[in-house]
Amino acid sequence: MKRNEIYIIHGTDYRDMTKRLLAEADLAGQIRETAKGKKDPFIGLKPNLVNASDPSMGATTHGELLEGALEYLLEQGFTNLAVMEGSWVGETTGRALKAAGYEAVLKRLGVPFFDLQRDSAHDHDAAGMTLKVCDLPLKADFMINMPVLKGHCQTQITCALKNNKGTIPNSEKRRFHTMGLHKPIAHLNTVVRNDFILVDNICGDLDFEEGGNPVPMDRILAFADPVLCDAFVCDAMGIPADRVPYIAMAERLGVGRADLSAARIHTLNQPAARRASLRRKGRIDALSRYIDERDACSACFGSLIHALNRLDEDGLLKRGMEKRPIAIGQGWQGKAGETGVGRCTGCFKCSLKGCPPRASEILEFLKEHWL
Ligand code: SF4
Repeated sequence: MKRNEIYIIHGTDYRDMTKRLLAEADLAGQIRETAKGKKDPFIGLKPNLVNASDPSMGATTHGELLEGALEYLLEQGFTNLAVMEGSWVGETTGRALKAAGYEAVLKRLGVPFFDLQRDSAHDHDAAGMTLKVCDLPLKADFMINMPVLKGHCQTQITCALKNNKGTIPNSEKRRFHTMGLHKPIAHLNTVVRNDFILVDNICGDLDFEEGGNPVPMDRILAFADPVLCDAFVCDAMGIPADRVPYIAMAERLGVGRADLSAARIHTLNQPAARRASLRRKGRIDALSRYIDERDACSACFGSLIHALNRLDEDGLLKRGMEKRPIAIGQGWQGKAGETGVGRCTGCFKCSLKGCPPRASEILEFLKEHWL
């Protein structure tokens, strides 16, 4: 997989999707190339276990991604594997591990888990900043970063670059906040490895790291460049990348490139239909009042939710607009209407193409044609 490539897979069988995605992206080939002749390189997997919550709440990485990734690696002959993470300050990693349901998977596959809150740590020169980083992640020959694509109340988004905050001790996490987060996050990524990024875009939270308002998207993504990953995440959530300063900072430090125009996107299948079992609640339910959905795919509906959330944040959603809702979904195919999002509403007076369209595109479209 090249640095400018992005792989996307849709669906609801997350374990099998993960295995297919990793095979298509040739993760095994990339590991062999990076580990340069090491027979059984030490591979670290770093999920997001920020707090003790079920992954369906939108905060933590789904166990099925871990299971799919570990099965793929073992089938490819890699046995020197370790899963590692340190939860946020105020949570114990052990509780988060239980809540995410990883223990049975790790036991079945015989892969150890390391709590980085208990790991030793040392100071490192991170491109001019001295930062304390846990020892174990830096021993890995290859690191697989497994963040959740989600919103964040301070940094707007969190994905690849910020997920590495789990590789520093709690004392350093506290210090990061006193330094304003952006600069230390960017510098941290000059020290820790980001060899492969496997993104959980199943139902990451709308705007909070700790979850509570999951936005179902039913997608898994793969990147080789964490900066490109986070630039893509901004686009997928309708947030201009310059509102997330650590992305440009990391790019200036040589961590990666944020240029989405140069990205080669491989979409492996069609978006998945929304799960009937999903209940809308809280903010998602409130934003759904502006939507007339008929069998929309998860990725399409989720992108529209993100775009509406941006309009709401800017104070542009007004009472009464729900009386002329935005149509979305396969049930609108061949039907006429006023304003619709996605290829399925192509017969509408005003329709945004795309399957699914991105939140940034939807946002511009709604500003021009719906507000
Ligand atoms: S345009 Fe239609 S088929 Fe495509 S993602 Fe949206 S709802 Fe699904």
